[in-house]
Amino acid sequence: MKAIRVAEFGDPGVLKVVEVPTPFPGPGQVLVRLHAIGVNPVETYIRSGNYARKPELPYTPGSDGAGVIDAVGAGVNTFKPGERVYTAGTVTGSYAEFTVCNVGQVFHLPGSVSFAQGAAVGIPYATAYRALFQRGQAQPGETVLVHGASGGVGIAAVQLARAHGLRVFGTASTEKGRLLVLNEGAQHVFDHKQHKYFEKMFEANGRRGVDLILEMLAHVNLAMDLSFLAPRGRVVVIGSRGKIEIEPRDLMSRDTDIRGMVLFNTPPVEMAQIHAALGTGLADGTLRPVIDQEFPLARAPYAHGALMDGGAAGKIVIIP
Ligand code: NAP
Repeated sequence: MKAIRVAEFGDPGVLKVVEVPTPFPGPGQVLVRLHAIGVNPVETYIRSGNYARKPELPYTPGSDGAGVIDAVGAGVNTFKPGERVYTAGTVTGSYAEFTVCNVGQVFHLPGSVSFAQGAAVGIPYATAYRALFQRGQAQPGETVLVHGASGGVGIAAVQLARAHGLRVFGTASTEKGRLLVLNEGAQHVFDHKQHKYFEKMFEANGRRGVDLILEMLAHVNLAMDLSFLAPRGRVVVIGSRGKIEIEPRDLMSRDTDIRGMVLFNTPPVEMAQIHAALGTGLADGTLRPVIDQEFPLARAPYAHGALMDGGAAGKIVIIP
């Protein structure tokens, strides 16, 4: 089979297509023939060598994908060949034509959801769900700011929050991204590259602030976020690429919280709850992953480049 292999950490050019033996599933595992592969920012950080968790070289990147069960290992009775699935974690990496997963890493994909959409679920929707409900304790009637709403996690958060009865504010830097955020359910959308957009958001919410902020770029926004929270508001830090200085009194004066999260830390029981909720939302059409760009496997370096260039309007996927 064809797969991406990374033999050294570095720029996107280290993502090379090679021919490797097709893996086979061991006990408790399944082999998935992938029809689409989700590309996530963490894979660019790992590839560059600047991430805390480094795989042994060489490795095949990726955890998200969607396709069809090709074979099952001993003891597997929850899946059979031919069933449509999405993956949220793999054993052998998802940037490939086939991937081996433990049974707990695959979930049924409804027939109404395309493979490209299925590849957009694993990390983005699970992260959005955990940030909103398990870490952020979002309640119907509250107002949430999805700070970076046009990308993979952001669109998922907008759809989930709207379905749960929240009032949703979102941000994006392009007209295309902002339109998408509005279409997916936000009541108000702002440009996070525009001067004084925080002032406009304040006005839009009667100068009350918001109850919850899902933050995609904390090293840029956290200080301002804290001054924008309503009493007992929460910021969930999902993404950050550096340091920032904050005013702790902003937390004290309104009893607010900063809560961090990394999806990998999710306990298995809570992860199972997340995918149960996502499965229901995908099946009934509440959750509709949006695809921005598709790249063939050989152009994986361009997929990484496009992800880091910004200007998101949904999800970037690779079609093997
Ligand atoms: P993505 O698809 O590339 O989207 C990135 C989003 O961030 C876009 O909406 C982008 O908007 C927005 N953004 C860019 N500059 C911003 C700014 N100054 N203020 C607010 N938003 C800004 O990435 P993703 O998959 O949604 O992931 C988003 C972030 O979460 C990344 O940093 C990623 O590493 C992190 N993440 C963390 C976890 C976790 O477990 N903690 C899991 C998944 C992702 P424009 O493109 O319009 O500027």
